[in-house]
Parts: sequence; C-alpha cells; structure tokens
Amino acid sequence: MPSLKKQIQKIYKFILDILFPVRCLSCGKEGKWICGDCLATIELIKNPTCPKCGKPSKYGKFCAECSFKSRMTGIMVAASYDDKLLQKSIHTMKYKFVKDLAKPLSKILVKTLNSNLLDSQILANKLVYIPVPLHTKRLKWRGFNQAQELSYWLNNQLKIPTRQDILVRSKHTQPQMQIKSHLVRRKNIKNAFQCTNPKVVKDKTIILIDDVCTTSATLEECAKALYQAKPKEIWGLVLARVQ
Ligand SMILES: [Zn+2]
Ligand SMILES: [Zn+2]
Repeated sequence: MPSLKKQIQKIYKFILDILFPVRCLSCGKEGKWICGDCLATIELIKNPTCPKCGKPSKYGKFCAECSFKSRMTGIMVAASYDDKLLQKSIHTMKYKFVKDLAKPLSKILVKTLNSNLLDSQILANKLVYIPVPLHTKRLKWRGFNQAQELSYWLNNQLKIPTRQDILVRSKHTQPQMQIKSHLVRRKNIKNAFQCTNPKVVKDKTIILIDDVCTTSATLEECAKALYQAKPKEIWGLVLARVQ
C-alpha cells in the first residue's frame, strides 16, 4: 500500500503534467525531456585523452607518465560539455531539480561504457558502480543525488551492481564548480570521503559515476578512499568534463 505522501506526490505530478507538459529541451516536442532524435545528436567523444596531460589515450586511461599521479586507471568522458543540449540538460537536472533527466542522460553513459569497454578486458572483471555521494545538506537541498540517479538507470540497462552505501561523504564542501583555483578545489575536497565497506571493494573493478568532473579532484578523493580497500581497478565515468 503506497503511503499517503506518495499518492499525493503522484496526483501532484499528474496535475503538473497536464498544466505544464514535458517538452524536449532542444526541439520542444511534447512528451520527453530529451526526445530520441535530439539525444542522438549528442556526439560521443571518439578520441579520448589522458585526464591529466590531454595526450591521446585509449578509453581515457592515464598515460604512462601520469598514471602514478592517480589512484584511478582512467576517466571515461562520454561527451563534450560544449554540446549545448548536454550542457542544458545537466544544468536543468541539477539546478531546476529535474530528476527524470537522469534516464536519457544515462543512455549516453551506457553507450560510452559499451563502446569503450566491450573490446577491453574490463567488463570481464567483477564490476561495481559507485555513485559519487553528495553531502546530506546538499542532498536535502536538491532532493536527489544526480550521480545516484544516473547509476540507477545504468544498472537498469546494464545490470551491473550499484552500491551507494560503501562510500560516504563525511565533510560538507563548497561545490567544486564555484571554486576557480585548482589548489583551493583540491583542498576543499581533501579527505571528504570514507569507504565504509572495504569487503565489497576488494578485487573489484570500481566505476565511479558522476555527472561531470572539473579538475577530477572529487573523483580522485573518492578513489583515494576506495584504494585502501584494494580494488582491482578504479575508473571514473562522467557525462562531460567541465574545464
Ligand atoms: Zn527533441
Ligand atoms: Zn598523461
């Protein structure tokens, strides 16, 4: 029996849908936040680069010179933040609180995972998705964690287990996008995460999911916390990189 609160939310959503029908953010067609045609226009990155130095590198792996600077094997970036529709979608999801956008956006992540990893050995390993956690304060403000929503839909399509309970954010930090200096960004996020269940992480290939990464300081701190639990590999997977 659904709770009264859930029923009221459902009715509220139903009325809103009639008054303000969902329209494609790009072409305005009624029915979906991003229609299939417009979603297909978001181009996937074809020539991935080393997240640190920008040299061409398969799947977005850290190159030989940069690999020792990271606890991650690489960061898979799905598309370019220059894509206006992608930019608008991410912004609408996070700052206009449209949780439903995670579903179409997750399809871009699925395509990236499929095309980047099916030909490598990574999918053969035991994979676990871990969404980058939000601090409870921020979670309350937004009402949902966008990384968690993306992971939910990824799991829905690729059936890879998602664990949102093994990485926690212990420190409330200023949003990384609001900070200009790289050094301050790194300081802001330092030691913000803790791994609460090392057993789940051990010998697994971890895919850290987030909507965007800026300097990658957040992903790096997550990886630092997980690395102690001896995973096989840690990858980042994001929709876009914001420079
Ligand atoms: Zn459209
Ligand atoms: Zn490099």
